[in-house]
Amino acid sequence: MAYLQLKNIHKRFDDVHVIRGVDLDIRQGEFIVFVGPSGCGKSTLLRLIAGLEHITSGGLVLDGRDITHMPSGQRDLAMVFQSYALYPHMSVYDNMSFALRLAKVPKDEIRRKVEHAADQLRLTPYLRRTPRELSGGQRQRVAIGRAIVRAPKVFLFDEPLSNLDAALRGNTRVEIHKLHVALGATSIYVTHDQVEAMTLADRVVVFKDGLIEQVGTPLELYDRPANRFVAQFIGMPS
Ligand code: ADP
Ligand code: MG
Repeated sequence: MAYLQLKNIHKRFDDVHVIRGVDLDIRQGEFIVFVGPSGCGKSTLLRLIAGLEHITSGGLVLDGRDITHMPSGQRDLAMVFQSYALYPHMSVYDNMSFALRLAKVPKDEIRRKVEHAADQLRLTPYLRRTPRELSGGQRQRVAIGRAIVRAPKVFLFDEPLSNLDAALRGNTRVEIHKLHVALGATSIYVTHDQVEAMTLADRVVVFKDGLIEQVGTPLELYDRPANRFVAQFIGMPS
C-alpha cells in the first residue's frame, strides 16, 4: 500500500519542462533517496511534494488524501533545507517551537515536545542560544529538530549535509538515519552524492533530466543497473 503516491507529475517553468512525468509509490516507514546529477530536478520535485511550487500537472496522494493543490502548511510534511533556514535572531527554543506556536499548541505541550527533540538531538545545552552562536552541525540539528516537533507524516530533506565538512557529514548522516528509525518516520532525502544514497536508502530513485531512470534497493542498483547511466552514476567515486 502506497503511503505517498506521485502520479504522473510534470513541472514546467515557462517553456522549460523540468519534471517530465514521474510516478512513484512510497510506503510508510521507507527511507527513500532521490539521487542524480545537479540540475536533474530533484529539488524541484521535493518542492512540488512540499507544496512550495505549483504543480503543472499530475497528482499527489498522502495517506489517502489528495494533497495536489493543498497549501503547503496543511500537507503534514516537514522540509529540512541545506541552508537550514533558521531565524537568526530567535533562540534555538523559539526556532524549534515556531510552527507549534503558530498552530496554537498549548505551551506546556510545546515545551515537552521541544525538550524531547532537543534531548534526542543533543541540543539541550543550546536551547537559549541563537543560531549564530552554534556550529554548522548544531544548526543543522536545530533544523531537524524543528521538523521533528511537528511529527509530520513525511520528512523531506534537500541535501541537508552539503554545508557541513566531510567529518561531520558522516556523523550527521548516521544520526539522521537513526532518527528516522527511532521515529518510525517516512523520509525522502535528496542528494547528488551516490555514496550517501547507497548507505542511507531503503530504496534509491535515480533521476536524469526530470525522469526516473531506475528505482530499487541499493543492492538491486549495484547488481542490476537498468542502463549505463545508472551503472556509471552508482559506480562513480564521490
Ligand atoms: P537539482 O536539485 O537536481 O540540482 P533543480 O530541481 O534545482 O535540480 O533544477 C532542475 C532544473 O529546473 C534546472 O535546470 C533549474 O535551472 C530549473 N529550475 C529550478 N527552479 C527554477 C525556477 N524557479 N525557475 C526556472 N527554472 C528553475
Ligand atoms: Mg537541488
